[in-house]
Amino acid sequence: MNSKFATCFNCIDGRVQLPVINWITKNYEIDYVDMITEPGMDGLLANKRYDPTSVLSRLTISINKHDSNHIFIVGHFDCGANQVDEETHKRHIKKAVDRIKNYTLSCKVIGLWVNEFLQVEKVWENGESINEDSSALKYVKS
Ligand SMILES: [Zn+2]
Repeated sequence: MNSKFATCFNCIDGRVQLPVINWITKNYEIDYVDMITEPGMDGLLANKRYDPTSVLSRLTISINKHDSNHIFIVGHFDCGANQVDEETHKRHIKKAVDRIKNYTLSCKVIGLWVNEFLQVEKVWENGESINEDSSALKYVKS
């Protein structure tokens, strides 16, 4: 049986690596998570001026070598590199999901929030909100 891989865009913060990996492998049929990290990843990907070439080249390896078709994008509480409130983080996560989805139409792209108790919440999937916040509803055209 082949192992199933996912890819995760995460912060470098050591506190959020294992909670995210454990959550993904528990909630999806995924064995291993290829981790792509930058400080404040959600804020970078949400920033139009950020050039994603480096992270996309790493994503390409994960997709080509490991057949990953689930991509997770993480923002977290008390982030040293992206020092914004929770609401802004979640907005960044949504923007980042939508942006990465444009590059990877065949992949499911899922946004995760890690709270102060290191619990993982799913906040955004494939551009479709799973929160009650309907004002944030936005659909990705594919
Ligand atoms: Zn961080």
